Amino acid sequence: MRKISEFEMPDLIPARMLNEFTYCPRLCYIEWVEGEFEDNADTVDGRFQHRRVDQSQGVVPNPEEVADFTARSVDISAHEIGIVCRLDLIEGKDGHVIPVEYKRGYVPKIEGGAYESDKVQLCAQGLALKENGYECNEGLIYFVKSKQKVQITFNELLVNRTKQLINNLRLMIASEKIPSPLVESSRCVRCSLAGICLPDEINFLKNPENRNEEIPQVRKFLPPRDDQIPLYVTGYGQTVRKKGERLEVWSNRDKTGEVKIRELSQISLYGSADITSPAFTEILQRNIPINYFSYGGWFYGFSQGNSHKNVELRIKQFAFAEDKKRSLKLAQMFVYGKILNSRTILRRNDGEVSDEILKSLKKLASDAKSSNSLQTLLGIEGGAAQIYFSRFNNLLKSDDSWYSFENRNRRPPKDPVNTVLSYLYGVMVKEFFVTLNTTGFDPYLGFYHQPRYGRPALALDMMEEFRSIIADSVTFTLFNNGELSERDFISRGLGVTLTPTGKKAVLRGYERRISTEVKHPLFGYKVSYRRIFEVQARLLSRVLHGEIDVYPPFLTR
Ligand code: SF4
Repeated sequence: MRKISEFEMPDLIPARMLNEFTYCPRLCYIEWVEGEFEDNADTVDGRFQHRRVDQSQGVVPNPEEVADFTARSVDISAHEIGIVCRLDLIEGKDGHVIPVEYKRGYVPKIEGGAYESDKVQLCAQGLALKENGYECNEGLIYFVKSKQKVQITFNELLVNRTKQLINNLRLMIASEKIPSPLVESSRCVRCSLAGICLPDEINFLKNPENRNEEIPQVRKFLPPRDDQIPLYVTGYGQTVRKKGERLEVWSNRDKTGEVKIRELSQISLYGSADITSPAFTEILQRNIPINYFSYGGWFYGFSQGNSHKNVELRIKQFAFAEDKKRSLKLAQMFVYGKILNSRTILRRNDGEVSDEILKSLKKLASDAKSSNSLQTLLGIEGGAAQIYFSRFNNLLKSDDSWYSFENRNRRPPKDPVNTVLSYLYGVMVKEFFVTLNTTGFDPYLGFYHQPRYGRPALALDMMEEFRSIIADSVTFTLFNNGELSERDFISRGLGVTLTPTGKKAVLRGYERRISTEVKHPLFGYKVSYRRIFEVQARLLSRVLHGEIDVYPPFLTR
């Protein structure tokens, strides 16, 4: 067996992690090494069931004085076996100590009445107690829902298995390589990290032969929608205040809106919109991002509580960005996705688009995939954008003369259509900024967009494939449906801006679009665009980890 060097040696391993490792090594890696965690109904319920034992921290008498006693929530560490644990309960009886581990749910209907992962966790606690001088040969698992205890004897077999798993866990950490996902395992169905791990998706993408399959064997992505609500504060002089468990929006003396904090996904403040200190502190403590925009919708920053712990991913991102060849491969796929999706938008919505134009966009997409430099790729993207925007006026079905589209212009946009496009691109940059941040990336370091002070280059990279199917589509839908009128725009100097009412209409359209559930073209399940943004960011992270070779852009059909 390979001996781990002093430098590779992880800190003491929590016994809880040993449980995760025994359940699924990849789960342990994602939680322990990558610092990712996500609740599901089981984990929330588990915490609730555990609340009594977690209430206070207990102490145990010295090993020499062990008599009859009970102590709850006791922390102990054992350096020889390399374990640290919080014991839910310890019972001292006749000179022996017995650890009791609380588990939610019912006694499982399996031989021995307990899963291996739980037995190993309990045994590690027993070994830690022994190392600290206590006599300990057995433990109990208490199943909260069935109110039953299952006795576990720390026999030679279980002790050896526990020690072997501790060593295997250390080797896994030292290898710096994420274990492969389980294949079609029922464990994934109950796993709260399935949305981060993407077991079926990664197994599917790892095998290139699968790519031609029409309906892959990918289980449903859960939850398909992100039901947390974003709060946009756009009007002049608006202030966000905390009131108990809610946030209220005030304009001078009038309350203009409110939202429950636990239902909040993020806050976006525009222009002079403000937030009070108590509200700000609460939001940071709950790790909800606050985004800041100029009046015109330019995203210029955000605040968040403790940042993401996935330092491993950031190291990989920086190494990838340094490597011109690998960066180009990613950039090619972003541009490829962008061109093909803009082609689909024209094919679907421009009744007069010629086959020639569709063919040339297809050709440019394939040229993007085989381009030999970033410079060439930029040229290809520029050419495709010119063709696409030359048709954009055909997507607007207006008989009115108050708006039309001639060409793409910005800084400042000179007509209502360009104003809405620019505004939505700004909102999308923020969306990807937040998604990348919460998935552990540094949004400022991209592979296609080059680093420049204050430019969220990776957010811009990731939104390329979604520009036409989200921002552009929302734009022409709003105009075509008559959801925007001339009164929603103001001409100022050289440019045109949206009024507060206009901004609200645009944001409504945007939220409606990204909450729409669509069938994922690769994986076959239905999922909202907002969740797709997250899936794409996770797939990108798996490319950086070397789990899949090629980044698969989201290609709408
Ligand atoms: S989803 Fe499955 S493979 Fe992925 S971490 Fe969970 S149990 Fe392991």
